[in-house]
Amino acid sequence: MLILDVAVPCPLRRSFDYLPPDGVQSVEPGTRVLVPFGNRRLVAVVLSCKNTSQVDPAKLKAAVDILDNQPTLGTDLLALAQWAAAYYHHPIGEVLQQMLPVRLRKENPARDQTEPYYRVTDAGREALAANSLSRAPKQAELLDWLSHQQTASRNTLKQNGFEYPQIKALLDKGFLERGTAPTRPVAIAEGKSLNPEQQHAVSSVDAQAGNFQPFLLQGVTGSGKTEVYLQAIEHCVKQGKQALVLVPEIGLTPQTLRRFEARFPNQISVLHSGLADGERLSDWQRAGRGDCAVMIGTRSAVFTPFKELGLIIIDEEHDPSYKQQDGFRYSARDIAVKRAADHTCPVILGSATPSLESLHNVQQGKYRHLLLNERAGGAQPPTIKLMDIRNCELNNGLAPQSLAAIGDTLAKGEQALVFLNRRGFSPLLQCHACGWLGQCDHCDVSLTVHFGRRQLRCHHCDAYKPLPEVCPDCENDSLTFKGPGTERLEQTLKGAFPDTQVIRIDRDTTGGKSAMSEMVSTVNEGKPCVLVGTQMLAKGHHFPLVTLVVMLDIDGGLFSPDFRGAERAGQLLTQVAGRAGRAERPGTVLIQTHAPDHPILATLLRQDYSPFAERLLAERRQLGLPPSSYSAVIRAEANSLDACDKFLHAVRRGTGMPGNGNQFLGPLPAPITRKANRYRCSLILIAQDRKQLHSLLNRARRAAEPLKPGFALRWTIDVDPLEWF
Ligand code: ADP
Ligand code: ZN
Ligand code: ZN
Repeated sequence: MLILDVAVPCPLRRSFDYLPPDGVQSVEPGTRVLVPFGNRRLVAVVLSCKNTSQVDPAKLKAAVDILDNQPTLGTDLLALAQWAAAYYHHPIGEVLQQMLPVRLRKENPARDQTEPYYRVTDAGREALAANSLSRAPKQAELLDWLSHQQTASRNTLKQNGFEYPQIKALLDKGFLERGTAPTRPVAIAEGKSLNPEQQHAVSSVDAQAGNFQPFLLQGVTGSGKTEVYLQAIEHCVKQGKQALVLVPEIGLTPQTLRRFEARFPNQISVLHSGLADGERLSDWQRAGRGDCAVMIGTRSAVFTPFKELGLIIIDEEHDPSYKQQDGFRYSARDIAVKRAADHTCPVILGSATPSLESLHNVQQGKYRHLLLNERAGGAQPPTIKLMDIRNCELNNGLAPQSLAAIGDTLAKGEQALVFLNRRGFSPLLQCHACGWLGQCDHCDVSLTVHFGRRQLRCHHCDAYKPLPEVCPDCENDSLTFKGPGTERLEQTLKGAFPDTQVIRIDRDTTGGKSAMSEMVSTVNEGKPCVLVGTQMLAKGHHFPLVTLVVMLDIDGGLFSPDFRGAERAGQLLTQVAGRAGRAERPGTVLIQTHAPDHPILATLLRQDYSPFAERLLAERRQLGLPPSSYSAVIRAEANSLDACDKFLHAVRRGTGMPGNGNQFLGPLPAPITRKANRYRCSLILIAQDRKQLHSLLNRARRAAEPLKPGFALRWTIDVDPLEWF
């Protein structure tokens, strides 16, 4: 008798047995099936076939339908899912669901979404020569562009700024026709000649082709890491293999894409959250067929199928966006390294400010360290100056010297960037008469003033209320704004430099689809201007004319309560400072601080991330914190703090472990205990090795699963958490 072992998308950490639909003799693992589950029908994935079940076969339900002719997930991805479910202690059904493109999570058949390809006809070439499309310049531009390529897919055309109506018009005129995907190997544009450090990096990676070997490529911003990636990929592609490139969430800029596309014309597939479901599916399938050489994408692209994977690159490997922060809390960086091991290929983790985890792996001999110390193309490192602002009269956060320096920069025809990691107008509204504070009704935090919208907004839940004119308590009109946010800073700078464009870049101004890229092009037109923004400014974008960076109010990061706080602050400071003077002109970084003697700042002044990281690693070792130990968090959230606390205490007791030493920390309430009216608590598990951590987690799970805590309590497991709360 044929029995299917099926992973059903539900929160249970197990798979389920089903009979095949009537008349079906065999089903391959990785095939999607439709199964009855409770009173619903769910799209599930067959893990394996067997001929016995622990359940009485008479009680087994039958799958309703087989959705794929061929398995949607290959054996490699299926094995990866099973590994990840065990590693992250997450339900296998949910892991597999995350792996699938959204279209395939529904009952859609996995029809191959072959993309249309186009090429220029002879008539098209004649039209181009005769310049007969002068009244349709965009069509002429498309025709001209495509005439230099063999063929291009609709997605590629779109990436190059052409839309379907133009394609359609040209098809109708007979200037374009349907083509087929270009056969690989393909034309590869020539790269730059590398400097010796870059050369060493590329040949070290080449030498490991066909072997599993992780490399940590550490080089300051502008040192030519991307050029190293491109040439390593070139060698991989020339051997007929594919490369996977992971980038952080907002690191996938049009600039980056164009650079890859220019190098590997027509060979780039892209996966990110901005794409329509159909586009995502077609690029996913394209990679699986082996029809593209390079897949670039954000976190979830780590689950792309490949025909023959030869190289993985993780750019800005320290970036927190690689870790999914809800549901299946995987780290795309760590899964990428696991995939490289499965496919026996090299993997490059690149960063100017590597995570302590990766540096630890270098020290353990697991990763090889490649260093780029020079800035490529001759750019000079910036000069960093600390500005002690104790007792200094500030103008909405800006010291007079900072304003003066911005003025000098603008006068020289250059651009300045002001960094403040806090959006909105002001983080706090207070009544000077009675002390009333604007606080969220649903969270233990104060509300941020958004002046343009005339609102008080909570940055932790979606709550907002109108900005009061007078104090809601004492009705005096003595409401004052405490401290600046980017919106207020923008206003101040506009007042100080009325003839200069001030461009604010934060989550509130970059909502529109093309808003960010429009702002970036405005800046890069090169007129003197001031950029104001949050950490969104620290990633990916290249602003060659920025020569001054001013950093305000960074002290919060230096004194953060989280064990990773110092690491994050150092990374952010180094990354933002790296925005200064990327091209020929030397840059300056001014750091305003109340803590000029802080050791993080002292090491930054020496412009070197490595000694700073060494120091933090030594500290973590001394305290037994990751990466010299391993941790996981069990978080509970409920409508009562007491319920969370009791539940986690029961879990801790239920493990039967004495829990002295450093096995457990907590349960402890989160620093912002109440968010959106839910109370939150953490139980932190720490172990000396992975095996011990897993056995601790298994015990905790077995203790937690039978508990019936009430108060709408939900609990989750987070392995290798970024934060403990
Ligand atoms: P990173 O990725 O480390 O920030 P990039 O690869 O973007 O660095 O390089 C920074 C700048 O230097 C880019 O404009 C790039 O074109 C240029 N560049 C990189 N490598 C070389 C090289 N070998 N010769 C000349 N210019 C280079
Ligand atoms: Zn008042
Ligand atoms: Zn709130």
